[in-house]
Amino acid sequence: MPEFELIARIQARAATRDDVVLGIGDDAALLRVPPGHWLAVATDTLNADVHFPAGTAAADIGWKALAVNLSDLAAMGARPAWATLSLSLPHADGDWLEGFLDGFLALAERHGVALVGGDTTRGPLSICATVHGLVAVDQALRRDGARAGDDIWVSGTLGDAAAALAQWRAGGAAEPALRARLDRPTPRIELGLALPGIAHAAIDLSDGLLADLGHVCVASRVGAEIELQALPASPALAARFDASARAGLQACGGDDYELCFTAPASRRDAIASLARAQPQALARIGRVVDGDGVRALHPDGSQWLPARAGYAHFDPTG
Ligand code: ADP
Ligand code: MG
Repeated sequence: MPEFELIARIQARAATRDDVVLGIGDDAALLRVPPGHWLAVATDTLNADVHFPAGTAAADIGWKALAVNLSDLAAMGARPAWATLSLSLPHADGDWLEGFLDGFLALAERHGVALVGGDTTRGPLSICATVHGLVAVDQALRRDGARAGDDIWVSGTLGDAAAALAQWRAGGAAEPALRARLDRPTPRIELGLALPGIAHAAIDLSDGLLADLGHVCVASRVGAEIELQALPASPALAARFDASARAGLQACGGDDYELCFTAPASRRDAIASLARAQPQALARIGRVVDGDGVRALHPDGSQWLPARAGYAHFDPTG
C-alpha cells in the first residue's frame, strides 16, 4: 500500500473541530488559538521494544502514543485541542494501521482532540505524536512553583505499569489489571484542568515518582520527603507484590501517567472536594522541605533506599 493510501485512511477517520481552519491534506495545518490563551505543546516518541513490549496490540500502541502526550498537557493544566502524528512503519500494513487508529482516535475523541497532520515514512516501528493544548494566560501549572511547606499529592495508584512490565520481563503473562495500566494509561486531563489556583507545581509521572518529583525539586530549588506508607497501591498490586517489592515499583517504576502536584496545606479541603468529584483518588504522600533532593521515609522516619531487587528491571545497568 503506497504512502498516500495510508494517509488517506488516516484522513478518512480523523475527526475535526471548529477551530481547525485547515487539517490533514495541505502542507501545514491552520489552527485558531482563542484570545487570552497560550498554546501548550508537548511531544513524545514511542519506539518498539523500548517503550512498549514487542507484540503489544496495535490499538494499545495507538492509545498509549496519544495518552503519554495528553498526560503532559494534563500536567500543565492545559485543555487538549489538536494532535499531529509521525508514523515510521516497517511495512504498509493496513490492518495494523486500522488497529492503531482504533486506539489513538478513541482517546482523541474522548478528549475532543482533532488529528490535524503528521508524517508517514518507512522505517523501524516508531510513533511520535505531538499535542497542542490551550491554557489561559498565566494559568499554566509548572514545575518551578513548589514551596517549602507544601503538601505533595499524587492521583490514582502507583506502580501498576512497572509491575506489569516486571511480570512480562520475567517471562510470565502480566496480571490483566496491571497490564491494562501499562497499555492504556489514563491521562488525568480533568484533574489538570482543576488544579490551577490550587496547586503550586505539577508534573506527570512517566519515569517514576522519585525521579519525576526530583525534577520539580530542582526546578523549584526545594527538597521533598515522601512517606513510603502513604503511596497509593491498587488492589492488584497489593495482591501480587509484597511490601518491599511494592515500594520499589511505586517509588521508582515508570509509566504511571498519574499527576504529582504540590499545594499549600490551606488547600486540603479544596483538594478533598476535587477528589470526590473525580474518578481517581488523590493521596497526600509527603511534603516539600527546604534543601534539595527527594527522600523516601519508612514509617519510623528512617530513609528508604531503593533496593536493587526492587527496581533493577528499570535500571540501565541492571
Ligand atoms: P508533505 O510532503 O508536504 O510533508 P505528506 O505527503 O507528508 O506532505 O502529507 C500529506 C498530508 O497528510 C499533510 O497534510 C500531512 O500533515 C498529512 N499526514 C501525513 N502523514 C500523516 C499521519 N501519520 N497522520 C496524520 N496526518 C498525516
Ligand atoms: Mg511529510
